[in-house]
Amino acid sequence: LNPAFPSLNHPMAELKLSESRDLTRIERIGAHSHIRGLGLDSSLEPRDVSEGMVGQAQARKAAGVILQMIKDGKIAGRAILLAGQPGTGKTAIAMGMAKSLGLETPFSMLSGSEIFSLEMSKTEALMQAFRKSIGVRIKEETEIIEGEVVEIQIDRPAVSGAASKTGKLTLKTTDMETVYDLGAKMIEALGKEKVQSGDVIAIDKASGKITKLGRSFSRSRDYDAMGPQTKFVQCPDGELQKRKEVVHCVTLHEIDVINSRTQGFLALFTGDTGEIRAEVREQIDTKVAEWREEGKAEIVPGVLFIDEVHMLDIECFSFLNRALENEMAPILVVATNRGITSIRGTNYKSPHGIPIDLLDRLLIITTQPYSEDEIRKILDIRCQEEDVEMSEDAKQLLTKIGHETSLRYAIHLITASALNCQKRKGMVVEVQDITRVYSLFLDVRRSTQYLMEYQKEYMF
Ligand code: ATP
Repeated sequence: LNPAFPSLNHPMAELKLSESRDLTRIERIGAHSHIRGLGLDSSLEPRDVSEGMVGQAQARKAAGVILQMIKDGKIAGRAILLAGQPGTGKTAIAMGMAKSLGLETPFSMLSGSEIFSLEMSKTEALMQAFRKSIGVRIKEETEIIEGEVVEIQIDRPAVSGAASKTGKLTLKTTDMETVYDLGAKMIEALGKEKVQSGDVIAIDKASGKITKLGRSFSRSRDYDAMGPQTKFVQCPDGELQKRKEVVHCVTLHEIDVINSRTQGFLALFTGDTGEIRAEVREQIDTKVAEWREEGKAEIVPGVLFIDEVHMLDIECFSFLNRALENEMAPILVVATNRGITSIRGTNYKSPHGIPIDLLDRLLIITTQPYSEDEIRKILDIRCQEEDVEMSEDAKQLLTKIGHETSLRYAIHLITASALNCQKRKGMVVEVQDITRVYSLFLDVRRSTQYLMEYQKEYMF
């Protein structure tokens, strides 16, 4: 089994790197790109407007509690249902949860209808989604080339470290005095610009000489958020030691793919993973269990978000019921805007189109329609996100439209009205731009009225 990522020295990797250097970065603005978190304070109370989030206080707070439990590692295999009318921020809340989790916790998302269009069975697609949401943090064994090493690992209490593989003394400290003292010595010896969080250095005990050995590898985007991770290696007998410790963070799905195909990791980029045989998964699960027992690996249960969950059918629901029983299961967050409706694949009706037995397992969070004031605040944020200047009158009109039609429709009109403004060489979107695009593009209610009037002229 080879869980490691391919070497960056691979010819393909070099090619991609040199090609991308010449490209201009294009920032895409997606429907939820303004959402940067759940906007909660340290006691998990929702701030009025924060991290792109507005209102929906109860739901955000509930999502924050779940998030805290995930971070504390208290829950695995739980499922949460976000239920509410269309456009009430269910997806936005799920995105907010994903953003707050950080890169170390896997988050994957799919829409209920997607699994029917992939070139694999629906349960295989769900299985892959589950395994994409389960992380494995693998620690490669430390190699001591010679001599005795005393290791001082600077860690915050929240960042748990595995037992030292040196078999010698490992001294963990959260004492910031020691951290600063050693850090200062390191900077003095190597120069400030050469010292980064994550460096592994050796201190020769006899002469006090400091040498940089390399860097410990982590996929964490933000070292600071995890606490200082600099490791100091003290050599008692004058000789500098070499040591190596590498941490890989991969998902179970990545391990599956790498081990199931001859082209290995390339399938990860092409997405052409095909069906993965059950035996391969069993082997991998056994191996991962061994690694865990030996203290070489930790499981990081992530989050799987399934939007439009009512689009799943009865077989998928039964799969979910079973998959949640697995001890490595991620947190499942599902969302729907349906009320009482048929369970796909049956003639039965059920709340949200979800079978009662699965529904009974879910913690349900509901979202509420927005007030005019909240709509206004969301539109303000979206104008900023899309870099659109809009006059006060135009914003008031757009808010009224959002209140009477839908928030989504009003958000769409921002881009359209900005284009209209550009066309007439204006600098600021005015009421005339809004009224123009309002008449060009119909909202659902006007479109339905139009259909009713002209129904006879359409094909049946
Ligand atoms: P549907 O049921 O139709 O899938 P939804 O409940 O998932 O709808 P979203 O897609 O999350 O709704 O919301 C519609 C738009 O409004 C998105 O662009 C979303 O980012 C934005 N939005 C919704 N709620 C909020 C909020 N509380 N704060 C900021 N932006 C929001």
